Amino acid sequence: MGENMIRDLSDNPNKLEIRDVSFDYIDKKSRFSALEHVNLDIKEGEFVCILGLSGCGKSTLLGLLSGLNKAKSGEILLDGKRIAEPGPDRAVVFQQYSLFPWLTAKGNVDFGIRQSGKKYTRKQRETKAEEYLANVGLAGAANKYPGQLSGGMKQRVAVARALALESDVLLLDEPFGAVDPKLRLELQELVSRLCMEHNKTVVFVTHDIDEAILLSDRIVVMEPGKIRTILNVKLPHPRKRDNLIGTVEYENLHRKLIASFYAHVEDNIDSEVIL
Ligand code: ADP
Ligand code: MG
Repeated sequence: MGENMIRDLSDNPNKLEIRDVSFDYIDKKSRFSALEHVNLDIKEGEFVCILGLSGCGKSTLLGLLSGLNKAKSGEILLDGKRIAEPGPDRAVVFQQYSLFPWLTAKGNVDFGIRQSGKKYTRKQRETKAEEYLANVGLAGAANKYPGQLSGGMKQRVAVARALALESDVLLLDEPFGAVDPKLRLELQELVSRLCMEHNKTVVFVTHDIDEAILLSDRIVVMEPGKIRTILNVKLPHPRKRDNLIGTVEYENLHRKLIASFYAHVEDNIDSEVIL
């Protein structure tokens, strides 16, 4: 990919379609409406961040896309087909390292490859696992167990395992929430680059405005239970935080996002500047 390119995905077909989706959490005594009538189309190859304060329903929405949550009403389509359950066509990365502690880094990535359902030989799997670990800068840690890896390294392995599934769609739920700020920036730039290289369609949940700007083609700002607004991020790639901060585009976007982000909790912030 060239330097300073502003991506235009408007001619791409829809990869994911969220159609009038509502979701309730139900227990013995109560019913809680976590999402109401959510609509969103996501283009093939698009990187979309779902941004919102804690409790807005971001993880619930990702759970619906992954197939772990079932919608009360409405439907979600992937390549025009209704999502009914989790599948190898969608890789998921969560905040809490979900690596298998009894497998090495390479073993964890190999698990992703086997989950893909593709018929690789053992030797091919081995080569691929090494390739994906190298992709995330962990070629040297292939034989280490999760317990021997730092938090940032574990999240790299989780990303490598997700890539190894070779799915078109990648779903990430605050994957770097527990990683320290410097490392976090590295991982953001890494994921941004890898997703473009592999032409992934990405839905990335975060409550971090800067993270959303750095990564996204579009930012979907949520308020409790619904989408509040959607903003396009027309900033060139590759993006580096240091080059972005202070530019007019960045500051405008940041201001709009702050206004929208807090609009439902702070009535004194003008939320009408959006879009
Ligand atoms: P976010 O990821 O944006 O922080 P969630 O999607 O986790 O938000 O939660 C949305 C809302 O649903 C919150 O009010 C939360 O308390 C509620 N919720 C989440 N999980 C459950 C559950 N298992 N049972 C009942 N309510 C839940
Ligand atoms: Mg969440």
